[in-house]
Amino acid sequence: MTKTLLLDLTRDQLRELVQSWGEPAYRGNQIYDWLHKNLVTDPAQMTNLPKKLRERLAAETFINPLELIVQVDDARGETRKALFRLPDGSTIEVVLMLYDKRRTVCISTQVGCGIGCPFCATGMGGLTRNLSPGEIIAQVHWFERWLRQDSPDSEGLVVQRPSRVTNIVVMGMGEPLANYDAAMQALRAIADPKTFALSARNITLSTVGLVPRIDQLAEESLPIRLAVSLHAPTDRLRNKLVPINKRYNLSKLMDALVRYQEKTRRRVTFEYAMMRGINDAVEQAHLLADLLTPLRKAHVNLIPLNPTPGSPYQPSSTEAVRRFQQALEDAGVTTTVRLRRGVEISAGCGQLRQATQQPEVLKFIRQ
Ligand code: SF4
Repeated sequence: MTKTLLLDLTRDQLRELVQSWGEPAYRGNQIYDWLHKNLVTDPAQMTNLPKKLRERLAAETFINPLELIVQVDDARGETRKALFRLPDGSTIEVVLMLYDKRRTVCISTQVGCGIGCPFCATGMGGLTRNLSPGEIIAQVHWFERWLRQDSPDSEGLVVQRPSRVTNIVVMGMGEPLANYDAAMQALRAIADPKTFALSARNITLSTVGLVPRIDQLAEESLPIRLAVSLHAPTDRLRNKLVPINKRYNLSKLMDALVRYQEKTRRRVTFEYAMMRGINDAVEQAHLLADLLTPLRKAHVNLIPLNPTPGSPYQPSSTEAVRRFQQALEDAGVTTTVRLRRGVEISAGCGQLRQATQQPEVLKFIRQ
């Protein structure tokens, strides 16, 4: 018998499950709270449930789908990256980032990614499958459990425990809007004020720009933040760097973002991975500023590329980033330069996974 992942079930679905077992519906609420508030990993810990129900849960369901393969910290203790194995043997990456006074978890929504950006380690491997809602939620719970532990020892990381996850970025492996229903179910559970209770405003979802899904997102009542991985100011270049642009070009994308802003009144952030000699010329900054003009509120994050081994795409120089940023600021666009933290731990999306597919690298990392 295939066991059910309990984190895949909404509160209503849990109530239905226990009712189908002949239990009162409120038992489903109790289980939901144990899972999403107390973050238990074993039905035996659900002490207000009858023993018979706990035994049935243990026999027919499971809670934690993640098996840690390896975790790596950067030298400053600000970033911890974990590689997990899922029950079907697939592997995913999750990152905890401890800077800017935040404790941010970067989560994955797919095993691999079908978008195929040529500078990205995940894109090189293609898409294996979508993650389920519970597999997404479990990534946040994993680090939340570790942060909640009352321990004087933070294992070399710059965080005092007990503490909590303060922010989530949906920027790990995969295109979240290509796995829309599961991603939104997971984020609703995380932002549920009765249980995990992370403010939706502290959740940022990053997309390459699936236009119909941006329109759908604008209708959601969940006020998460939207980031768009742009990386190029012209269709010609973006067709190469972000191939989905051939389907949803910049004109369609910007129209969708204008509609999104009209509906939500929220700022849109643009991620721009800066690649030497590819997209970092001052003229390209001017084109980018022109492109963003129709938006009422926009912000650009400039991120020197995390180079993937074997890739011809390399990060822009500090000077090129500074010039590009200045040109945007002069045109009235607010910007941030995001430091390339975690380069030494392969913190770029999909890089640890790619590295650990070579057994000798895995052995090295574990030492
Ligand atoms: S950059 Fe993002 S969208 Fe592009 S291939 Fe990588 S994971 Fe997919």
